[in-house]
Amino acid sequence: MAPLFLPFPFNAFEDKNRLMSDTQHLADRAARAQKIIASPDDYKVCEGCESIVAERATTCPNCHGYRFDVSPERVVEQATHLATRPQQSVTASDLT
Ligand SMILES: [Zn+2]
Repeated sequence: MAPLFLPFPFNAFEDKNRLMSDTQHLADRAARAQKIIASPDDYKVCEGCESIVAERATTCPNCHGYRFDVSPERVVEQATHLATRPQQSVTASDLT
């Protein structure tokens, strides 16, 4: 199955009237998701909080869970959710 690529910049026209920081945040999130979707093998999804974490992580930096779904399909699906929902829960990369 071909990887799914999101349009970028994300919702550029719809976000015109929003605060610049919100637009920037959403664009950052979309760019991050795009990176994850391009190489889903490098990531996995936490079963506890649904954060996307680096494949090399042994525990989730967000909820300290240790159960992960490593399937690329699940990673891509979750990254797509994160890109399209700006109010989604905090991800590991938000904490850096
Ligand atoms: Zn977690």
